[in-house]
Amino acid sequence: MIDTVAFDADDTLWHNEHLFQDTQKALEAIVQRYRPGEDIHGALFAVEMKNLALFGYGIKGFMLSMVEAAIQITEGRVTAEEIHEIIALGKAMMEAPVDLLDDVEQTLGAVKGRFRVILITKGDIVDQTSKIERSGLAGHFEQVEIVPRKDAGIYRAIFERHGIAPERTVMVGNSMPSDVLPMLELGGHGVHVPYTLLWAHEAHDEDPESERFHRLERLGELPALLDRLLSGGQG
Ligand SMILES: [Mg+2]
Repeated sequence: MIDTVAFDADDTLWHNEHLFQDTQKALEAIVQRYRPGEDIHGALFAVEMKNLALFGYGIKGFMLSMVEAAIQITEGRVTAEEIHEIIALGKAMMEAPVDLLDDVEQTLGAVKGRFRVILITKGDIVDQTSKIERSGLAGHFEQVEIVPRKDAGIYRAIFERHGIAPERTVMVGNSMPSDVLPMLELGGHGVHVPYTLLWAHEAHDEDPESERFHRLERLGELPALLDRLLSGGQG
């Protein structure tokens, strides 16, 4: 029995990772003025991971990590004007249009009414609230939860607060560690819908062996999967 469907937002309902990857390329161009040919990926990722516990997920933390990485890679030679350029890159990310993925509106329309539909997204509360508003999708969700990270404890707290049974819940998202694995741990269903780009932090090694783990090529396949689960199939 399934009565609740929870969705991730970034790279599940709308495009997000390309903004980070494009901005990283722009940062690389700034840094290459000092270090021609430098690939900044590893250095920036290391700074981001070091800062994650302090800054959390989101664009503001990414901006600060970009500044820190630029100072580090250029050995302090990056100018105040260039730091201003980096901050402008971050601000542009915050104002970028919310570009929905294919099938999103049809899929949300198909599950609404049949299931309790909620949104669970991690990140900065200002960024995420603004994207949800600008997406035009807010009306599809009974609850919207913006959390600092996604692990089994955080999901459990959300479900308890709303009287949701994890074993009757399907969580749909593009990240195995954030969206799928914690749900399986709680006895629920995890549906992985991979996005074309993947942040290294969200990578995973091996697929779980669980009949509650499902993978779809696209979000539009979700209503049929839910039908199969409701009719007692393994999906
Ligand atoms: Mg996501």
